[in-house]
Amino acid sequence: MAIKFICNECGKKYDPKTLIFKCDCGGLLNLDEFHFDFSKEDILQNEWSLFRYLKTLPFDDNFNLWKDISMGEGLTPIVPLEKNNPNLLVKVDYSMPTLSFKDRGAVILISKAKELGVKKVIQDSSGNAGTSIAAYASRADIKCDIYVPEGTSSKKIKQISSHGAKVNIVKGTREDTQKAALNAVKNGEGFYASHVYNPFFYQGTKTYAYEIYEQLNGDMPSSVVIPVGNGTLLLGCYYGFKELLSLGLIEKLPKIIAIQAEGCAPIYKAFKEGKNYVDEIKNTGTLAEGIAIAKAMRGKQILEAIKASKGDIIKAPENKIIDTKKYLANKGFYVEPTTAATFAGFLKYYKKNDYSLDYKVVIPLCGSGLKKG
Ligand SMILES: *Cc1c(COP(=O)(O)O)cnc(C)c1O
Ligand SMILES: [Zn+2]
Repeated sequence: MAIKFICNECGKKYDPKTLIFKCDCGGLLNLDEFHFDFSKEDILQNEWSLFRYLKTLPFDDNFNLWKDISMGEGLTPIVPLEKNNPNLLVKVDYSMPTLSFKDRGAVILISKAKELGVKKVIQDSSGNAGTSIAAYASRADIKCDIYVPEGTSSKKIKQISSHGAKVNIVKGTREDTQKAALNAVKNGEGFYASHVYNPFFYQGTKTYAYEIYEQLNGDMPSSVVIPVGNGTLLLGCYYGFKELLSLGLIEKLPKIIAIQAEGCAPIYKAFKEGKNYVDEIKNTGTLAEGIAIAKAMRGKQILEAIKASKGDIIKAPENKIIDTKKYLANKGFYVEPTTAATFAGFLKYYKKNDYSLDYKVVIPLCGSGLKKG
């Protein structure tokens, strides 16, 4: 399979073997469309991980390094949250090896890095993506440096370093952390295994859509609710639904309802102002640290995805996050504040639209409560 990167701005194509992480013009890279056939019969019924959709993934037929790297990530449960409400479904994406959905993307990115012969990876993260990259890099015998902003939960930092990764704590904003990581990459210290920049990460998160398709037996939700910081789950999910649509397996795209934090909502702002690009804003503080991204690198693409799905974007009410965390725990689900914020955002959307329970909605529980007290 000849896979190419293509610049989101100027359309220039690159061979992923060059280990390039952005275009000469400064634009971000996407994966150029690659052709595959896929139907229900192609699901690998004896593979109990997201690799059961191997035919949809950008690997050669004889590629099997993933078998040593996978930890059985994916295939997370979809369950009704409440007993009287069969259409309100949560997808328990914190049931993953490192306790967040980031394992979907990390297992694909690291498998690809291994295939490309990478010896060391560098990444910046507010926590969960770093943990996930650190775990999979360790499993793949790849050295790993993770950059995190000061103020990152100490539990997340412990989790990252326990996998043998070097943790660099950077003073200043999340954006300063990214600059520090990029400097290290520019100095030749390693391969940039960024969940934001690297297009292979999204090939992993797209399995979120394939799982919904398989688990609901093709009876798709009318909406999916997705938390958005950098948009790695949102974009992956969108790509997955688009593929399912062009394969003729679903009839329309579910609406994507994006959730941002009240104190840090640059994409919300752009969407409401009718812009097709996203300006950097100032993070004024939020409990939802996992979506507190002031500069959304893929903002333009995120806006396109929400619009193409006829979706919407909602700010999660900050003052409801703690109560919502308790509410979910009361239903049996112990989640981190960012995930409580996602659900609080959904409840707001639900009220605003007088949402009829005749329609199915799937909401991800992205991060475990063990990550942050
Ligand atoms: C990473 C993360 C998010 C946000 O994902 P983005 O890719 O930044 O949009 C939301 N919730 C949790 C728990 C996360 O770890
Ligand atoms: Zn370019």
